[in-house]
Amino acid sequence: MSKVLIIEDELAIAELEKDYLEASGYQVEVCYDGEIGANTALVGEYDLVILDLMLPGIDGFEACRRIREKKEIPIIMVSAKKEDLDKIYGLGMGADDYMTKPFSPSELVARVRAHLSRYERLMGQGKEENEIIEIRNLRIDKTARRVFVDGSEKILTTKEFDLLTFLAQHPNRVFSKEELFREIWDMESVGDIATVTVHIKKIREKIEGDNQKPQYIETIWGVGYRFKV
Ligand code: CA
Repeated sequence: MSKVLIIEDELAIAELEKDYLEASGYQVEVCYDGEIGANTALVGEYDLVILDLMLPGIDGFEACRRIREKKEIPIIMVSAKKEDLDKIYGLGMGADDYMTKPFSPSELVARVRAHLSRYERLMGQGKEENEIIEIRNLRIDKTARRVFVDGSEKILTTKEFDLLTFLAQHPNRVFSKEELFREIWDMESVGDIATVTVHIKKIREKIEGDNQKPQYIETIWGVGYRFKV
């Protein structure tokens, strides 16, 4: 259930807004003071804020600024004065919407619903995005643990994938075989630094066009390996 915070010092208006929003299935809390309201918005897990402009404590402008500094949740500002709304536009407050009092509560509910669904969509997209490392023709999808070269998938073992990803995440840095072994294989692992050499060879066979002239993993003789960008 989405949580809405109303910051409004006029009790009757706050109650009306609260009733309508609750009837529409939202969980609602009310603050009557600007400063307390801004702090409540910052510490609580709210999905949307309805913010009055003229408030005791700090005004809606300042409250909006403080909330926006830390949170991306939708903010709907309300004011009794049409001129205030022009000011909000002019200042680029970071509010998502503005309403002039008096407004119909059902209009408010409609806007709350619209902003929440847009916000949830945005957040959802953010979450679904895979973490990708892309260097020239090589594409490593860290989330799906898949590797592509020129768009065609290469099947890597778990350790090959871990080793390649580690190097790609630290480009232009030389790692010794010992360092790589420690990083990718845990201490109890059977094996030694020759394991690293074998894995590098396997990775190269899969991702490099010409093993003699590696584009991605370079051998730094006597030292180790470096991922080239
Ligand atoms: Ca007020």
